Amino acid sequence: MAKKVLIVEDSPTVRKSLETVIHTAGHKPVSASNGKEALEILEQENHGIQIIISDINMPHMDGIALIKNLAEKDIKIPTIMLTTESSADLIRKAREYGAKGWLVKPFLGEQILATIDKLALP
Ligand SMILES: [Mg+2]
Repeated sequence: MAKKVLIVEDSPTVRKSLETVIHTAGHKPVSASNGKEALEILEQENHGIQIIISDINMPHMDGIALIKNLAEKDIKIPTIMLTTESSADLIRKAREYGAKGWLVKPFLGEQILATIDKLALP
C-alpha cells in the first residue's frame, strides 16, 4: 500500500537519497528542509501524511523542536528520528515527545522501508 511520507532533512544529499528509496518502493515522498517547513506542510488541509522521517540537526527548527511542536499541536503522525547522534539524552527527549523510533545514519534503504511498513498510518 503506497504511503505518503514526509521527509524532514536539511542535507540535500541525504534528502535526495531518502526520496529515491521511498519513491522506488512505490511510496509518495514529500520533502521539507527543516522543522518549520514540515509544520507548514502539516498545517495544510488534506496533507495526508502517514509517517514523518526527521533529521535532528537542522537550521530554523530542529527535529526535537519539531516533535515537541507536533505533541503540542496534538498531531498524531508516527515520527521516526534519523540522525548521526546516538546520544542517550537526545533519544530520551525525542521519545518523551512521542518519537516512535530512531535510525542512526548511515541508514539502509531496507531499514527505512521496514519502518514505513511497520509504523505508517493506514
Ligand atoms: Mg542535518
